[in-house]
Amino acid sequence: MHHEACMRLAIEEARNAGTPYGAVVAMGDDILASAGYRVIDKSDPTAHPIITVIREVSAMTRQTTLPGYSVYCTMEPCQMCAAALLWARVGEIYIGLSADEEDYPVRHSRLDRHDLLTRSSPMIMIQRGLLEQECRKLAADFPVASP
Ligand SMILES: [Zn+2]
Repeated sequence: MHHEACMRLAIEEARNAGTPYGAVVAMGDDILASAGYRVIDKSDPTAHPIITVIREVSAMTRQTTLPGYSVYCTMEPCQMCAAALLWARVGEIYIGLSADEEDYPVRHSRLDRHDLLTRSSPMIMIQRGLLEQECRKLAADFPVASP
């Protein structure tokens, strides 16, 4: 199953970085980019996995929007990443552990993040709960990571 394979790669990226956060961008069956949390490595507060993969694919394809592309992320995107997904006009977003299901401490309100994506663009297909149990375990394994 392609969607699950993409999410498993996002989970692997998250684990390799020692956080619950990982992301993948795919076009059809092709996986184009994957990343974990790089904020500390790069001394860049915007180096969240979703931002990193959007930047990589945009640079690779020389496009400023990514219509038709699918993004997979282990956790509900933060406000910055949700906004980036909207600006990139991606086609589909698959979320592992949604804000509705998070039971680990988060710094940002669930309502803002959830509604930002869900209410902002009816054009984007959003599916929550892909490999949810694996992503829940990921969140439990790295409980002190920053969002
Ligand atoms: Zn983020």
